[in-house]
Amino acid sequence: MEGGGGRENAWTEFLVALERRIGDQNMEIWIRSALRADQVGHRTVRLRAESKYYHDWIHDNLYRDILAAWREVLGPAVELELTWDGAASVQEPAPAPARRAHSGLDRSMTFDNFVVGKCNEFAHAAALGVTDAPGLAHNPLFIYGGTGLGKTHLMHAIGNCVSHKFNVVYYPAQHFFDAMVRALQTRSIAEFRERFRTEVDVLLLDDVQFLAGRDRTEEELFYLFEIMRAEGKAIVLTADEPPASIGKLEPRLRSRFEGGLLVDVQPPDVETMMAILATKAEALRLDLPSDVQWAVAQQVRTSVRELEGVLNRLSALKAFYGRPLTLPFVQERLVDLIPPAAPPPGPELIISRVAEHFHIRPSDIRGNRRPANIAYPRQVAMYLTRRITGLSFPEIGREFGRDNSTVQYACKKMEEQVHTNPNARAELDLLERACRA
Ligand code: ADP
Ligand code: MG
Repeated sequence: MEGGGGRENAWTEFLVALERRIGDQNMEIWIRSALRADQVGHRTVRLRAESKYYHDWIHDNLYRDILAAWREVLGPAVELELTWDGAASVQEPAPAPARRAHSGLDRSMTFDNFVVGKCNEFAHAAALGVTDAPGLAHNPLFIYGGTGLGKTHLMHAIGNCVSHKFNVVYYPAQHFFDAMVRALQTRSIAEFRERFRTEVDVLLLDDVQFLAGRDRTEEELFYLFEIMRAEGKAIVLTADEPPASIGKLEPRLRSRFEGGLLVDVQPPDVETMMAILATKAEALRLDLPSDVQWAVAQQVRTSVRELEGVLNRLSALKAFYGRPLTLPFVQERLVDLIPPAAPPPGPELIISRVAEHFHIRPSDIRGNRRPANIAYPRQVAMYLTRRITGLSFPEIGREFGRDNSTVQYACKKMEEQVHTNPNARAELDLLERACRA
């Protein structure tokens, strides 16, 4: 930390000021373990989060409080800069691929915290395969699939797994593109290539669909691939679609992309979603009852990133109210997330289900006609209304245009049926389920 002893105290004072604003739980989850001071100057404070994930969350949710706390401690002019471990290489103006300390890897994404399910088991196995013998297994490995499904995670997992033995660099394709364009502009493309050839063992290039249609870069990339593959360097690529569907991709490059192993990731099924949710909730020290877990997994089906967003909201909710996250509480506070349970079906719906089942009209059930084919369904409807809605006999009578003794009689008769006639019981069960569905 810059600036001598007074600055050291500044951090402690800052923590106290921030805790007053955001509470102990937020401090515990987001600040104490995951954020540290990189530089505390008179004008600028630079803080570093443990990973991009923490950085993004802190940035979106706590930035204003953090800034205010620093201003409280250091004065109103101070500016705040947030960054994360591993961010340096993608933020520097001209990234050199193999500066060993800056691989661009996010240490929080590992194989250990990647949940494997049917949706991603093949991609996971292929990624592990790369770590066994980088460059020798299927090369390149091309992982594709929708957004938020773990492609980037798998990439970092590969990198983190082998980075102690190999030089790994991770690039979002966009940054790679920028670096390459700069090299082309400054006529240093030969050095650029050479650096990759000599200093990089494992190249992780994320979201390569961004490179499509950029002719000169595609051509360069093609040469770079040729060189790296010839040298036995491993290349891992991701995209939101398989190479054949990426429009405007140079044919030679497409065939290179397809020349190794192509694997996809699919949206998780509910069980996998539940497993991912349990893992992430535990990492956030968020105690979620199983009904809340189930409701969330039902609701969030398309992306794990979306799931993380939900967990962040839940954790903020808990920190703010300091209350356990029971299902009714979550339903009440996050209505868009888990809509409150549908109200129980009323007489109207029950009558129409019963009418449908017996091939008559709802008005027959409510009407006065008494033929046997209507009398029985009418009794069924009254009985189910009583069971499902809990309305009193007179109330049900009003719904059906009958007096309360008729309803009582119907219910009694149906009770007898339930006990003596298995077919009737099965039929009533079925109807009850249809009404509640
Ligand atoms: P993509 O690159 O496919 O858009 P990411 O790899 O960025 O998706 O995943 C989005 C978020 O979801 C990341 O924080 C990642 O850690 C998490 N994630 C995705 N899949 C899994 C999984 N199977 N297990 C644990 N976390 C996952
Ligand atoms: Mg990604």
